[in-house]
Amino acid sequence: MNTEISIEFFPPQTPEGVEKLRAVREKLAVLKPEFFSVTFGAGGSTRERTFAVVKEIAAEGFNAAPHLSCIGSTRQNIRDILNDYRSAGIRRIVALRGDLPSGTAEAGEFRYANELVEFIRKETGDHFRLEVAAYPEWHPQARFPRDDLANFVRKVKAGADSAITQYFYNADAYFHFVDEVRALGVDIPIVPGIMPIASFSKLARFSDACGAELPRWMRRKFEGLGDDTDAIRAFGLDIVTELCERLLAGGAPGLHFYSMNQSALTLEICKRLGI
Ligand code: FAD
Repeated sequence: MNTEISIEFFPPQTPEGVEKLRAVREKLAVLKPEFFSVTFGAGGSTRERTFAVVKEIAAEGFNAAPHLSCIGSTRQNIRDILNDYRSAGIRRIVALRGDLPSGTAEAGEFRYANELVEFIRKETGDHFRLEVAAYPEWHPQARFPRDDLANFVRKVKAGADSAITQYFYNADAYFHFVDEVRALGVDIPIVPGIMPIASFSKLARFSDACGAELPRWMRRKFEGLGDDTDAIRAFGLDIVTELCERLLAGGAPGLHFYSMNQSALTLEICKRLGI
């Protein structure tokens, strides 16, 4: 199957983690991803580590897409980072607001991702292809879906080329979101973010924080599997593969995998999909 995929990593904290990620990338390379992206801690907390991994990816001959979150940053911080990326030959950025850790007082000079997209376009024209985040089950801070939609449209109109969604397990939420934004005149690709399931308890904690819904039938089934890691893995692979099949059959333009710096589940899902 000729499906465009991209794969996301976070920047490791230790030299062992960096080494392990190199091995993970080597395995994932068989999937010929459109790009590997690397997350960025809000407020610039991972700036050097993100840049280091991005440079390695580019040196290995892949397209590298650093994430860039603007909350807590000044215009000059962002300008410096854009200059570094430009000098390193980077052509794609995932532009985000980010979330500051609670208790952080300094919000910085950007409030929302649309301001970052606008700033990047003003500073660097069309040099970067810009990806933005989308939320088919709505952003957790949005009071009403219609406001979230309007904010998403504003961000796209500021100059985004493509969007990657928060992960979800309900394909209908994605199809509904795509219909809604198309009706508002947005025609950029909306690529579903796919979270393979390695551990259900971790996924449940993480999903609560980022506002992704775990459907009841799925949650109950995982809970019933207790500590049986093989059964959890097998059920998770079935669910996520079926989700990807439905998304692609329904017109999704590609898949973006949240790899959590692991290769096995992404490889297995792609194998089952024939990618
Ligand atoms: P925005 O688009 O700014 O939206 C945030 C909230 O503000 C929404 O509720 C929206 O409705 C509202 N809003 C937006 N614009 C306006 C406006 N002009 N006026 C009023 N309200 C507005 N976080 C990181 O820190 N680092 C990462 O590397 C990272 N990577 C991610 C990758 C993907 C694909 C996704 C989906 C998320 C990622 N995140 C990352 C998490 C993201 O930073 C958080 O979800 C954050 O809370 C919102 O970021 P955003 O760019 O979507 O924000």
